[in-house]
Amino acid sequence: MLASTHAMIVIAIDGPAGAGKSTIAKALAKKLSLRYLDTGAMYRAVTFAALTRNLDLSNESAIAKVASECVMLIDDDSIIIDGLDATQEIRGQKVTRAVSIVATNSLVRTELRGRQQQWVSEHGGGVVEGRDIGSVVFPDATLKVYLTASPLVRAKRRVAQSGGDVELIAAEIAERDQRDSSRSDSPLMKTSDSVMVDTSNIDVNEVVEHIERLVVARQQNKRASS
Ligand code: C5P
Repeated sequence: MLASTHAMIVIAIDGPAGAGKSTIAKALAKKLSLRYLDTGAMYRAVTFAALTRNLDLSNESAIAKVASECVMLIDDDSIIIDGLDATQEIRGQKVTRAVSIVATNSLVRTELRGRQQQWVSEHGGGVVEGRDIGSVVFPDATLKVYLTASPLVRAKRRVAQSGGDVELIAAEIAERDQRDSSRSDSPLMKTSDSVMVDTSNIDVNEVVEHIERLVVARQQNKRASS
């Protein structure tokens, strides 16, 4: 348990696809009694809404309009966009293949970044997972974690979750990582002030306990220096 404090606790969990972000962020939020926000689900939901409207993904202003006008209700286990429950569809192949294209759209990023910051302030902090959380959305986060794992482990995890062929999934992940890391606006990157954790050979509980210890240490340091 965390010591009570008036300062808002924000834990940023970034990293490539299949590094274990969702599993670890959810478990950590539960342990620390914090809320959990999956920002990837928000990019996926906008992609789903754009595909549903048959929009051309390269039409930046049309996609940005969807992002800014949509009503998005997100909680730990579901996402509803404009009244449609998109929880299942956002994990499907169509959305997964298209989402990193939508995520290069700066207008979409600005809109979702604002919504993420608002969500955290309304919920009094949280464990937030994504690609640009520590670098751009919450540069002053209490703790920034960069989760990673070997490409093979990451592909195998995705296959265990959703099925498919390991080689094919590995190629898809590599393409998405490449797009996410090379875009000009808020690329996936490890900031110098984040803690890198390689989850390839460590059990989820161990990772969560490790991060929990880091959060507690951060808080103690903060209290000692204030
Ligand atoms: O985390 P998840 O794999 O569901 O994210 C889907 C996609 O959403 C990523 O590949 C990335 O293109 C985009 N994304 C992003 N910034 C975030 C979260 C996700 O660009 N903070």
